[in-house]
Amino acid sequence: MAKELFQPLSGNAMPRFGGPATFMRLPALGIDAGLDVAFVGVPFDIGTSNRTGARLAPRQIRDESRMLRPYNMATRAAPFDSLRVADAGDVAINTFNLLKSIDIIERHYDALLATGAVPLSMGGDHTIVLPILRALKRRHGPVGVVHVDAHADVNDEMFGEKITHGTPFRRAVEEGLLDPKRVVQIGLRGTGYAADDFDWPRNQGFRVVQAEECWYKSLAPLMVEVRKQLGAGPVYISFDIDGIDPAFAPGTGTVEVGGLTVPQGLEIIRGCRGLDIIGGDLVEVSPPYDTTGNTALLGATLLYEMLCVLPGVKQR
Ligand code: MN
Ligand code: MN
Repeated sequence: MAKELFQPLSGNAMPRFGGPATFMRLPALGIDAGLDVAFVGVPFDIGTSNRTGARLAPRQIRDESRMLRPYNMATRAAPFDSLRVADAGDVAINTFNLLKSIDIIERHYDALLATGAVPLSMGGDHTIVLPILRALKRRHGPVGVVHVDAHADVNDEMFGEKITHGTPFRRAVEEGLLDPKRVVQIGLRGTGYAADDFDWPRNQGFRVVQAEECWYKSLAPLMVEVRKQLGAGPVYISFDIDGIDPAFAPGTGTVEVGGLTVPQGLEIIRGCRGLDIIGGDLVEVSPPYDTTGNTALLGATLLYEMLCVLPGVKQR
């Protein structure tokens, strides 16, 4: 029996401002619905070091995603023509307890991955990538990562704590969740605690592309090199919205000026086409700092672009 495919609810069937606010107005289904791709919200922000608010992002991203239509007019990708995609709801984190929440997220993704679905996650702060990577390791082994961020997120600890939004990629290396030679970090910038802060990931084998190397140019040539670096194995995309310049994405908690442009963000994700993408996230949108919703719309769009480069997506 052919699998049932879902199209986003059309703006000609229900006004875009009407109906339930699911991601792209897709059906709301459980994680056991036999999905090829599951959009998942993780309303968690108790790992933030500066401004909070990312707990509210899944709802705002869903709301702003109402404007997204099914076909990608730049790449001609038609993700809903071949993949069974739905909104699989939120993870019921315990907002009073960070460590318990990390365990809850890890178990939720274990259950989701057991169905064969590819998770595309709406954070939440960047802490959530650690339990997601733990679950992915069990299913796929160590993964390559395309990590877009203003920050390396490789602190050993913050205020004495080992698990925060500034530490997940240090923990991921220590726990063997990554294939370090197949990790690239793009957009890093700003001030540091030590001048060699970005050398730690380099010493693990990561490629680090600081924001200054990206200024004034297309990132399409970089992505040719990234595809060569990451090769044939499994790849996860982790996109911290603060990688984009705050002029375009002010709704976030840990702001750094001099960041990537929106077209560069699109080039990075579109440049992942051909890689074996096994999941992705869009983290650190903080709705209280952008009540226009534009940061959340950008986040929703970047998640849609991740959907468009998944294996099995056909181009019309
Ligand atoms: Mn981050
Ligand atoms: Mn960041």
